[in-house]
Amino acid sequence: MSRVVMKFGGTSVGSIERMRHVAGLVRAERQAGHEVAVLVSAMAGDTDRLAALVKEASGRNPNVPLREYDAVVSSGEQISAGLLALCLSAIGAPARSWTGWQIPIHTTGVHGKARFTDIPASDLLGAMAKGEVPVITGFQGVGPDGAVTTLGRGGTDTSAVAIAAAIKADRCDIYTDVDGVYTTDPRIVQKAHKLEKISYEEMLEMASLGAKVLQTRSVEMAMIHRVPLRVLSSFKGLGAGNGGTLVCDEDEIVETQVVSGITYSRDEARVNLLQLEDQPGVASVIFGLMADANINVDMIVQNVSRSATQTNMTFTVPESELKKTLSVLTGNKAKIGYGDLSSDSNVVKVSVVGVGMRSHAGTAKTMFQALAGKGINIQVIATSEIKISVLIDEEYTELALRTLHTAYGLDAPPE
Ligand code: ADP
Ligand code: ASP
Ligand code: MG
Repeated sequence: MSRVVMKFGGTSVGSIERMRHVAGLVRAERQAGHEVAVLVSAMAGDTDRLAALVKEASGRNPNVPLREYDAVVSSGEQISAGLLALCLSAIGAPARSWTGWQIPIHTTGVHGKARFTDIPASDLLGAMAKGEVPVITGFQGVGPDGAVTTLGRGGTDTSAVAIAAAIKADRCDIYTDVDGVYTTDPRIVQKAHKLEKISYEEMLEMASLGAKVLQTRSVEMAMIHRVPLRVLSSFKGLGAGNGGTLVCDEDEIVETQVVSGITYSRDEARVNLLQLEDQPGVASVIFGLMADANINVDMIVQNVSRSATQTNMTFTVPESELKKTLSVLTGNKAKIGYGDLSSDSNVVKVSVVGVGMRSHAGTAKTMFQALAGKGINIQVIATSEIKISVLIDEEYTELALRTLHTAYGLDAPPE
């Protein structure tokens, strides 16, 4: 008998009708002889709605007290876990709901961004051995002081992998509203096609560069704990027509492309500091201030200015942190010593990802030529061993994705 974790995202449990369908999938896995644990997200839209209520109640205070944020937004998952357990019981599959603190899923105390510390498996294993299906609230746990914590948006993916590792599941199946991981977001590029397999490493890059089909941390955790991870559709049945995408070791993939996937992230803002003194320590002051303010700086370029003694610095931060960034920079103008400060949040980061880049030259050239051919100006470039990212005007997001998809030979063959 094998042990399976099945995770269902918000759209998959978006209504009682959808939950009934999901209950059928769970029962089918049980009837196939597997022990099953289920992780659920809040019903589609609920987390956004709850987060908006928290904002309103805090008087639009930009620094919302995160303990109460967690207490409120975690409730969405409690509703869907209870309802799905009821749907399962109604079709004769014994089930019960479990919240994070009942298991208990221990986490750090960092509200809004908690990380798992320890998950005891014995109660869950006992329930499963009795033939019961535990339906577990995703996205949350309990901190050292007993308060509910949440993991960051999209966190149920990570909850599923963590539970799979804790109960030593044979696989972790992430059911969602697409039938696998695609070469790029299928909602934007119609010619995107589903990948049969993708390596942990590539999936990790794609997730962290914006492909929200899996939360980055879930991929990291699957890689560390060697959990076989599959992404598949909750809108189809089980079996051959719904093989999904397997996230696995690189050596399990026979044919690799130079570029496996293309991602985009709109949550970016560009900051330019002009007329900085070109002397040792300038970068250290700027990025020291950013680090002290807990701001995540991503792409950085320093370039020469017209004057021999001055330089310009450009970097990106998450759009949500632009306000804070500008206030830190203006508040420390004298300390940094710059002439001008400007920023732009109408930018998008587009990235191409592939382990094949390690052994192929010319990947960057293809990207730059393709974008130039469409008149798309590149503002900032960043590379690593298996990815190239460019920052461009947000207006060109779709054009850039489609152009690069074609340029790297990823377009699906015509039907
Ligand atoms: P869930 O609610 O099930 O967690 P998400 O909305 O978080 O679902 O993730 C699924 C969505 O991710 C898809 O609807 C799709 O638009 C988007 N997505 C972005 N990039 C990709 C990709 N490369 N492959 C598949 N889906 C992608
Ligand atoms: N409900 C949470 C969110 O919307 C967690 C999740 O769906 O994974 O972010
Ligand atoms: Mg998700």
